[in-house]
Amino acid sequence: MHRAEKEGVEKFYLPAIDSECQDALLALEVRYPGKCIGMTGLHPCNVKENYQSELQFVEQELGRRPWVALGEIGLDFYWDRTFEGQQYDAFHRQIEWALHYDIPIVIHSRESMAESIGVVREHQKGLLKGIFHCFSGDARAAREIVDLGFYLGIGGVLTYKNSGLPDAIRDIGLEHLVLETDAPYLSPVPFRGKRNESSYLKYIVQKLAEVKSTPVEEVARVTTGNAQKIFGI
Ligand SMILES: [Zn+2]
Repeated sequence: MHRAEKEGVEKFYLPAIDSECQDALLALEVRYPGKCIGMTGLHPCNVKENYQSELQFVEQELGRRPWVALGEIGLDFYWDRTFEGQQYDAFHRQIEWALHYDIPIVIHSRESMAESIGVVREHQKGLLKGIFHCFSGDARAAREIVDLGFYLGIGGVLTYKNSGLPDAIRDIGLEHLVLETDAPYLSPVPFRGKRNESSYLKYIVQKLAEVKSTPVEEVARVTTGNAQKIFGI
């Protein structure tokens, strides 16, 4: 937290995974009031046999207090497709709740870009908003997401050698991008493979400035403004 704050990172949006992670997430909010801000939601990798009761938990949480976003929700077919149908069900239902409470969604999509875009499109009647977190699709997917009114979450992958991401977002304006770390995963170069932390956000800012031929300050200003817009602060 200290290192991140020294680098100008002021707010930390914490995505939910499932009911088991909830206490740790709430404890961070209590420890860093106004800085650590939790979300609620059921992560697609944690959609298992008990997903109905996990969804009930999310529904209760939504009614218990205000939340800044619903996430991470989405589809992940990378590990296995055992619960594919349940993942879809959980994704659809949580989107409906997000619409009901008028909060953004943070989408986790792995090996499921076209499918996730398809689900968002089904629900997008002009009111759904959110972020495709750690976006890793191609230029066409980037365009489709932006056309749906969604933001692309850009993280450490942008800095990787042979990453297709710089090309994929070449024609996407900064006004459609938000920055993230996905800590402890996906550390940017020069810390690739090591434990990621929020202070490393500056390497992503620097790389994006390079990709966009834009000053670092401008990248920081616009993407911070986008985050403020999407999270309503
Ligand atoms: Zn994720």
